[in-house]
Amino acid sequence: MSEYRQSPTSGQWTILATERSRRPEDFVLPDEGNPRRGVPAHSDSCPFCRGGDVDRAVPSVERPGKDGLWAVRVVPNRYAYVGASEPPRGLPRGKFAAAVGYGHADVVVESPRHDWNPALASDEELAGVVLAWRDRFRQLQKDPAVKVVNVFRNHGPRAGASLLHPHSQIVATSVVPPHISDQVRRAEEHWKAKGSCVYCDALAEELAQRERIVAEEGDFVVWCPFASRTPFETRVQSRRHEALFGDATDAECAEFARAMGAALRALHAALGDPDYNVILRSACLDQAGAPFYHWYAVIIPKLSRAAGMEIGTGIYVNSVAPEAAAKTLRGALGL
Ligand SMILES: [Zn+2]
Ligand SMILES: [Zn+2]
Repeated sequence: MSEYRQSPTSGQWTILATERSRRPEDFVLPDEGNPRRGVPAHSDSCPFCRGGDVDRAVPSVERPGKDGLWAVRVVPNRYAYVGASEPPRGLPRGKFAAAVGYGHADVVVESPRHDWNPALASDEELAGVVLAWRDRFRQLQKDPAVKVVNVFRNHGPRAGASLLHPHSQIVATSVVPPHISDQVRRAEEHWKAKGSCVYCDALAEELAQRERIVAEEGDFVVWCPFASRTPFETRVQSRRHEALFGDATDAECAEFARAMGAALRALHAALGDPDYNVILRSACLDQAGAPFYHWYAVIIPKLSRAAGMEIGTGIYVNSVAPEAAAKTLRGALGL
C-alpha cells in the first residue's frame, strides 16, 4: 500500500510508494560517476582558485584564512540574472505583469581550494562559510527594494552546478518567490488558528516520534521530514524560534554549520558524495521577528528526477521512506 503524506509546513502532498523501491544502498554513486574524484587542489584555469579572476574582484564579504590570505570570499556573480543598475519598477507589457529584473546576485567562494568539499571540511571552515552567508544577508537587508534573500548551494552537475570550484550563491530579489509566499501564508494561518509556529510544532512532533531524526547539534536538529518529497531529503533547523536568517548570532551560525556538516557528512558516507542542492529558507525581510515563520535549511540529494506526475501535479512520488533514510544516515554517522 502506498501512502499520501502532507507536509505541515508547505502543505504539499507526497506519495510514499516504497514497494516500487529500491533499497537505500541502490542510490550510492559509483566512483567512476563522480566528477569530484581526482580533482586537483588548484586549477590554473579556474576563476575562483586563488590567483584566478576572483582575486581581482572586489569582495562584499571576505573572511581571512590562517595563511593571511582569504578563506571565504563573496563576490558579484559575473553571470548575474538580476542586477541593481536600474531601480525596480513595473514594465508595460499589456495585460501581462513584468518588472525590471532588480536584485543582487553573488557567488560565495567557499574555499581557495579547488577540491574542497563541505562534507569533508572542518567545523571551523563550515562556520566561516555560514558566517559569510549571514554577513552578506545582513548587507542585503539594508537595500529597501530587496524583499527576499535566497541562499543556496548547487553541488555537482545534476544539481545545476556549472563550475567545479566549491561555491554557493546568494540572490536577493525584489519579488517574493511563490514558494516563500505560499509557505508564509500557510504559516500565518497556522499561527492565527493555533497560536504557535508551524515549524516549531513540526519539529517538536518529529522529536516526539524520533524515527526520522538523524542528529542533534546543540539547538539544531537534522532529520528526514515526514513528507519528504525525494529520497534522503534532509532538514536542518533550530529548536529556538527565529524568523530571519540575518538575525542568527555568531554562536547560532557555528552550531548550524556543525549540524549542516553532520548532515552532509552522513549523505556523503551513505551515498558516495551525491549531487545535491542546499536551500536556506528565511522569512521575507519585512517579517523579521515574525512569530509564525522560522528559517531552516533543506538538503535535496539529486537521486531521482521530476517527471510528468511531479511537474503536472506537484505531488512527488518518493520511493524511499524517510524513516529508512534517517536510519541509513544515522548508521553512516555511527549513531
Ligand atoms: Zn578552483
Ligand atoms: Zn518556530
